[in-house]
Amino acid sequence: AALAGAASLALTLSACGQNSEGSSEGSSDGGTVGIAMPTRTSERWLIEGKSLVEDLKGKGHKTKLVYGDDDPKAQVSQIEDLIKQGVDVLIIAAIDAKSLNGVLQQAADAEIPVISYDRLILGTKNVDYYVSFDNEMVGRFQAGYIVRKLGLDDGKGPFNIELFAGSPDDNNTRYFFEGSMALLQPFLDSKQLVVPSGKTALNQITTPRWDGPTAQKRMSGTLTEWYGSKKVDAVLSPYDGISRGVLSALKSDGYGSDSKPLPVITGQDAELASVKSIIAGQQSQTVYKDVRRLADAAAEMADDILDDRTPWVDNTGDYNNGAKDVPAVLLQPTSVDKTNYDVLVVDDYFTADELK
Ligand code: BGC
Repeated sequence: AALAGAASLALTLSACGQNSEGSSEGSSDGGTVGIAMPTRTSERWLIEGKSLVEDLKGKGHKTKLVYGDDDPKAQVSQIEDLIKQGVDVLIIAAIDAKSLNGVLQQAADAEIPVISYDRLILGTKNVDYYVSFDNEMVGRFQAGYIVRKLGLDDGKGPFNIELFAGSPDDNNTRYFFEGSMALLQPFLDSKQLVVPSGKTALNQITTPRWDGPTAQKRMSGTLTEWYGSKKVDAVLSPYDGISRGVLSALKSDGYGSDSKPLPVITGQDAELASVKSIIAGQQSQTVYKDVRRLADAAAEMADDILDDRTPWVDNTGDYNNGAKDVPAVLLQPTSVDKTNYDVLVVDDYFTADELK
């Protein structure tokens, strides 16, 4: 679906006459795009940093790429620097969705358009476009997987589940959680799903910085405090790094044997270690988002802006950031498990050798 989504996006773009392939080579000197990415600790941001630079170079533009290393203040000063260096467009994946108002006012004063990348920047009108995946669908894929694997639609249960969410300052966290809860809540209500720790509210289950070791600690504590002779049947995890932390805690507690099988564990991003874990029958599922396509979409947008074309958007009005409706382009994610991980090889996201 990711590929189909991206392909249809490309088709639509060319149908609009906005597939700028080759066009910017003709457009004299090009511009400079400042790219502010959030972290190097999760694989995806490295892949797309590289893709954005390559794509924009291919369109005749220069780039300045910076990584904020999960420090909101550092990211603000990096963006200030990019503004001072005179970039023409900013592509920003925010660390803290709400901490950029001041610096984006500086961007607006300098007439620098801003593309909010993957994560919606909140509370400022100084955001021009949003490119991301259908994040609510990501949460639905994760929860839907649990529903199917446990046979909840067939009335099975009760099962024990624990819930994990992403970083509280990342706006995507809310979309993932709401998408998941739309499917899980009915089974919590019918008591086919039980949460022994009792933690079901978003503010009880977030994981600052999406940090795996933090999740591992919480899972260990939960097992000690709430499980005793009980067994975990499923863990809703929003991101592969968190899933691997949860898995470590479970294994330390003796899970992974015939008498104590691992629970269903979801994830996101198709990180190499998690795909290998899925193939080995440990993590159950992940959500693959071809971030190279997201980089393509953002580069296309930046190129349109620099060449005075109006970027194509597919979803206007749905993405209110608290200050305005931000015009958006959304790509489709794909749910991946042991049965279909070869999509990653087909897409050349990983080579078959890498997955061995
Ligand atoms: C992204 C996810 C990623 C997470 C941690 C989210 O904003 O949408 O793809 O797993 O950040 O980096």
